[in-house]
Amino acid sequence: MTITEQIIEQTEKYGAPNYHPLPIVISEAEGVWVKDPEGNKFMDMLSAYSAVNQGHRHPKIIQALKDQADRVTLTSRAFHNDKLAPWYEMICEMSGKEMALPMNTGAEAVETAFKAARRWAYDVKGVEENKAEIIACEGNFHGRTMTAVSLSSDSDYRKGFGPMLPGINIIPFGDIEALKNAITPNTAAFLVEPIQGEAGIIIPPKGFLKAARELCRENNVLFIADEIQAGLARTGKMFACEWEDVNPDMYILGKALGGGVFPISCVVADHEVLGVFNPGSHGSTFGGNPLACAVSIASLEVLQDEKLADRSLELGEYFMEKLREIDHSSIKEVRGRGLFIGMELTEAARPYCEQLKELGLLCKETHDTVIRFAPPLIIKKEELDWAIERIQKVFSN
Ligand code: PLP
Repeated sequence: MTITEQIIEQTEKYGAPNYHPLPIVISEAEGVWVKDPEGNKFMDMLSAYSAVNQGHRHPKIIQALKDQADRVTLTSRAFHNDKLAPWYEMICEMSGKEMALPMNTGAEAVETAFKAARRWAYDVKGVEENKAEIIACEGNFHGRTMTAVSLSSDSDYRKGFGPMLPGINIIPFGDIEALKNAITPNTAAFLVEPIQGEAGIIIPPKGFLKAARELCRENNVLFIADEIQAGLARTGKMFACEWEDVNPDMYILGKALGGGVFPISCVVADHEVLGVFNPGSHGSTFGGNPLACAVSIASLEVLQDEKLADRSLELGEYFMEKLREIDHSSIKEVRGRGLFIGMELTEAARPYCEQLKELGLLCKETHDTVIRFAPPLIIKKEELDWAIERIQKVFSN
């Protein structure tokens, strides 16, 4: 039995069966490359669902982690720490918002946005207590907590977990008329992924985000952008909302905020919104810890210093062009923005992902028929060419 086989057996014996990973064990990683325990090398085309935009173990981020680990790692929020303040300033300046609230995982940041929106509806908008409504989109993915699952339209995510949270309305993604009809005087917020990631890299019709933003402004409804996956340079812009020059009331961020090194998530918004929290109303033991903040500052600096949004835009166009040149009857569509690319097939994507793995390329299917290509944004053009050769090979017959 190989070490890989042993590890998979141990995982399947003791681990709750809530994932269906490809049969590969990763034991080392650097940049865009990972290795299994047998020393086989693979290119990572998933980037941990866009958490590793800066590349695996970016030296600058690892250095920040090590330096901070030698000083202080956790204080809780019972005391101040000296890394949270500079992190606050940095994320606010980057996002153009007045305030931030740090958490750990994406789903927790979604919870935070949800709570902020409800409280804002009562305290600022004047909605009657317990009547606030949130509008979300079909096909969304906002995480796995009960709030996120209640927002979901996917029965696999909801089944067996009811009762769901009340006060949620779902509209078809990209349907401005449906949004118009769903807004009531009790609507607190419209929550949307500017590009739906887990749904299969779905880009809304041109003008939808801008029109939705306007509609929210006219109706005193918060426009909340979940950019946990699409944000932070992934789509070729620092924020995916920039594709339509939209400035949301709130961004929800996570994943690449910690460079794939340490979990950190947050919401950023203006004082009018985040000012609704008071001591005791929300928090997290680990939220805003100095280790996460030090790592996050370095992660954001890497995005800026290495111009990873521009890189993603340029290389994404090149990669998409090459993918579109592949002539195969099973390829229905190649779509994307920057290096956030979905290849939709007319059949199951999993067997193709398994074949790509055999050729050294790690991709993961999403929603059965889509292969997502989302390499670390530090990828070189030659490395993309290496990937393209393998993808062509898999689609050559
Ligand atoms: N929101 C979006 C758009 C996501 O893509 C994800 C994760 O894939 C989440 C929320 C949940 O983040 P986490 O898995 O860190 O809880």
